[in-house]
Amino acid sequence: MDNESGELAGYNLFTSHPALIEALAREGDPADREPLTALGARLGSTEMFALGAAANRNPPELHVLDRFGARRDEVEFHPAWHELMRRLVGEGLHTGPWAQPRRGAHVARAAGYLMWAEVENGTQCPATMSYGAVPALANQGPRFEAWVRALLSRDYDPRFLPAAAKRGVLMGMGMTERQGGSDVRSNTTRAAALGARGPGCEYQLTGHKWFLSAPMCDAFLVLAQASGGLSCFLVPRFRPDGGVNALHLQRLKDKLGNRSNASSEVEFEAALGWLLGEEGRGIPAILEMGVYTRLDNAVATAGLMHQCVAQAIHHARGRRAFGALLIEQPLMRNVLADLSLECEAGVMLAMRLARAYDAQADASATRLRRLITPVAKYWVCKRAPSVCAEAMEVLGGNGYIEDGPIARRLREAPLNSIWEGSGNIMCLDVLRALAREPGMFDTLAELLAPARGQDARYDRFVDALGRDLADPANGELRARDLTQRLALALQAALFLAHGPSASCEAFLASRLAAGPPAAFGTLPRGLDTEALIARAFL
Ligand SMILES: Cc1cc2nc3c(=O)[nH]c(=O)nc-3n(C[C@H](O)[C@H](O)[C@H](O)COP(=O)(O)OP(=O)(O)OC[C@H]3O[C@@H](n4cnc5c(N)ncnc54)[C@H](O)[C@@H]3O)c2cc1C
Repeated sequence: MDNESGELAGYNLFTSHPALIEALAREGDPADREPLTALGARLGSTEMFALGAAANRNPPELHVLDRFGARRDEVEFHPAWHELMRRLVGEGLHTGPWAQPRRGAHVARAAGYLMWAEVENGTQCPATMSYGAVPALANQGPRFEAWVRALLSRDYDPRFLPAAAKRGVLMGMGMTERQGGSDVRSNTTRAAALGARGPGCEYQLTGHKWFLSAPMCDAFLVLAQASGGLSCFLVPRFRPDGGVNALHLQRLKDKLGNRSNASSEVEFEAALGWLLGEEGRGIPAILEMGVYTRLDNAVATAGLMHQCVAQAIHHARGRRAFGALLIEQPLMRNVLADLSLECEAGVMLAMRLARAYDAQADASATRLRRLITPVAKYWVCKRAPSVCAEAMEVLGGNGYIEDGPIARRLREAPLNSIWEGSGNIMCLDVLRALAREPGMFDTLAELLAPARGQDARYDRFVDALGRDLADPANGELRARDLTQRLALALQAALFLAHGPSASCEAFLASRLAAGPPAAFGTLPRGLDTEALIARAFL
């Protein structure tokens, strides 16, 4: 058609993305390049893009009662959702690194997960929660071993049956209540022991959760108040006697985005649950799961942003205005280069963080995970709505229309910043890690020091950040400013150590010297915009 760029689908998500290829080579096992190339072709197929669109056009439906009035508590999904879930689980993108632990497993999964995020995001909710559930359940005793084995299965089994009868299971989490989501200590759901108290014992849960996503999962990690304090329970959809557990779904949320996925409100009416860890230790128990979901928030958001930017670049290469292709117009080139730079910085930080999850037993990697996970979740997720909105504008009027590729993704963009610790909570967590965990400043110095001495802008930026981090007068009020600068310093250090010179110079000039842009397309003169764009999409 005249002057239309055409659909961008049916291409390799991996080989078209140089920044991701290099991040994998740097942070992971080079042997993963070949399987990820094959995965990039599978995920980038026209069929996958069509499935993603169909699953979001046809949201799930809640069936509270059957036609005779008996409780059903089932959610019905469109076939496209099930097909996507079957492929996601079949690729091992939910729990693969736990099923086949090896060097580079979490990094390889992160690269695959980033690409999955380019195609569909709702399916990542149960996948991410299942990824985090495995470490939370591991080493919790024989009661939970069968659950872990079933989580590791690559067989997606959507049947509403007891877990023991299924080929594979998925898990969700229930923390948020009406009166508080960030402050989970205010939870009022109660748990009473049915006999003996302690790890693995049976309790009855009574109360309400205001958000419980992916309610067709086979079990949930749920916080509730036991006599020993706030505790974590594994609550299955079916009781061991085969009866449906008393998780009464009340309503599905009418969400801005993430529409392929169901998020419910649920009443626990004396529902059965097994205690995880000790009574009163619920927050550390569920945080085992939470840190992995925060990693995934950063990784998946990097993918979401990248897809919008790839669509924008594709459009600009095929659309003409005022006698020239959009990509040839200097101001449009500035916009696309600035967006590409933001994507590259997000990919670099997320993939570096994923490497710290591969070195589970290493003390320095453990400290790095503790500090950098909230930094990356905060900053990468914070950038997403403005990146996706600017990418939409590149497509002009068509960008705003629902049958195009960006509208749905823009509606998705704010979510990863909100759930599993909203922005402010992440920034407060960064301050807490620095103040309370021994060795954190050393870890930070280890990360930032190798890039010193190469560029005065970086050295000045890191010196000023160090002074402000050490100054207790900054306190909570400045937590966002400090976290943002930490993220920028880490991204700059990665660019100085590994980035191509065009990206590195653009980042130092535009992000460190001038601060993050209020609007994209404000890069200074003299940068190689063509090279920057080619980092995001060949
Ligand atoms: C689509 C979707 C799916 C979800 N799925 C789940 C799920 O499956 N399970 C689940 O448990 N929850 C789920 N949630 C809930 C989500 O995790 C919470 O909404 C989130 O943690 C924030 O809690 P809240 O809504 O109670 O807000 P609040 O805790 O009331 O916070 C409101 C705002 O205040 C800020 N704030 C809080 N305390 C402070 C402070 N001390 N200083 C400064 N600012 C502060 C927060 O950052 C936030 O911006 C989901 C949410 C969404 C939107």
